[in-house]
Amino acid sequence: MSATASRALPFHAPMTQFAVADGQLLVNGLPLERLAARVGQTPFYAYDRGLLTARVAELRAALPASIKLHYAMKANPLPAVVGLLAGLVDGIDVASAGELKVALDAGADPQTISFAGPGKRDAELRQAVAAGVLVNVESFREVGVLAAAAGELACPARVAVRVNPDFELKSSGMKMGGGPKQFGVDAELVPQLLAEIGAAGLQFEGFHLFAGSQNLKAEAICEAQQKSWELARRLAEHAPAPVRFLNLGGGFGIPYFPGEQRLDMAPIGANLAELSARAAAEMPQAELVIELGRYFVGEAGIYVTRVIDRKVSRGQTYLVVDGGLNHHLSASGNFGQVIRKNYPVAIGNRMGATDTEAVSVVGPLCTPLDLLADRMELPMAQLGDLVVVFQSGAYGASASPQAFLGHPPVTEVLV
Ligand SMILES: *Cc1c(COP(=O)(O)O)cnc(C)c1O
Repeated sequence: MSATASRALPFHAPMTQFAVADGQLLVNGLPLERLAARVGQTPFYAYDRGLLTARVAELRAALPASIKLHYAMKANPLPAVVGLLAGLVDGIDVASAGELKVALDAGADPQTISFAGPGKRDAELRQAVAAGVLVNVESFREVGVLAAAAGELACPARVAVRVNPDFELKSSGMKMGGGPKQFGVDAELVPQLLAEIGAAGLQFEGFHLFAGSQNLKAEAICEAQQKSWELARRLAEHAPAPVRFLNLGGGFGIPYFPGEQRLDMAPIGANLAELSARAAAEMPQAELVIELGRYFVGEAGIYVTRVIDRKVSRGQTYLVVDGGLNHHLSASGNFGQVIRKNYPVAIGNRMGATDTEAVSVVGPLCTPLDLLADRMELPMAQLGDLVVVFQSGAYGASASPQAFLGHPPVTEVLV
């Protein structure tokens, strides 16, 4: 690799998805201070309905029309968000009976809901069968539990097999396939699993392959999709019924850190067009699915806190804000990051101000881990100003330890 390609740019990708007027960040047209007054408290998360809608439309325009888009709701399970997306995408992927309830309440069609996860309890599997959703089988044990539920409820158990592939997703922030994994069933054991599924009389519908998450390299994603397709084709020869559903995973990332740039969707669209053509010829009943969490919601959300103190310690300025890792673990760098880096941060009521300073933004918790921005150049902020963390629509409130240190919970709004 050339030195240029590997050199990180020192800047965050521009957060131009939110407009600005009179120095105020706008959330779906609403000035931030006005929104804070409407919400009635800080901290809060705000998700922009216009941005969520636009993101789905842009992705549809970039991918072949035959590709189905599923929303993996663990990225943001707020019922209002799930309700909005359920009306925009082609299916919802849930990872617990709790998420299943939210998806069903949101009006998602059970036919298009799928349920994955390494530890599905017997009761959850039974609920899934009763709901009529597709279960991504991830162990031999699940087959027996599903067969018993189907018999008892006198309704079909719809299943796909989640495969732990024999390859890894390169350049992925979080690998979830390849090598030993708790997810899915190892590819080499899948023929035996398919035989058991057939013998148990479950309604086989297809395969689910999910290699990893937070990938910003289009070539790596294309390669994983190609390999997933090849693997699914090989495994389909052992299937008890034609493949009607082939989930090729997702893993589309968003830029969080300095030097990262938005994913180039053009090569992914071209790759999926090629795979769609092959699927039409070689697996004619199969619908190709991409499942995405953060790519749909991440860039449409902000976390908003208020400055409650400002202090200087031995030359370093700190803005102390009213929420931190208790509400936004990932922005603090404690949700899977190896090296802590700053999320993009702004003073939301002083956008574009030119008198800046280097500050660290810290939350109110009594731990040095509670850091939202480490020595960033930001407009000079005063008490009462609003600190905004961008790229906060995914893995925010629901992925944070809100009870830690007993501060008030965060609230979330869809604007
Ligand atoms: C977490 C998860 C996703 C969503 O990952 P993102 O990085 O948010 O897109 C999709 N599918 C499965 C199986 C997952 O576990």
